Amino acid sequence: MRVKITLACTECQNRNYDMTKDKRNHPDRMETKKYCKFCKTHTLHKETK
Ligand SMILES: [Zn+2]
Repeated sequence: MRVKITLACTECQNRNYDMTKDKRNHPDRMETKKYCKFCKTHTLHKETK
C-alpha cells in the first residue's frame, strides 16, 4: 500500500520532494537526508501532510 507524501527540509521548511512510501514499511513519519537546493547542502527532510 503506497501513499503519497511530501518531504520538507527541517532547516528552511521548503517542501522539496514529492514521493511515495510503503505504509507497511514506514507507518510513522519518515525522516531522510536529502539535498536541499535552498540550503545548498544535505539536510534532514521530514514527511509533511
Ligand atoms: Zn533547506
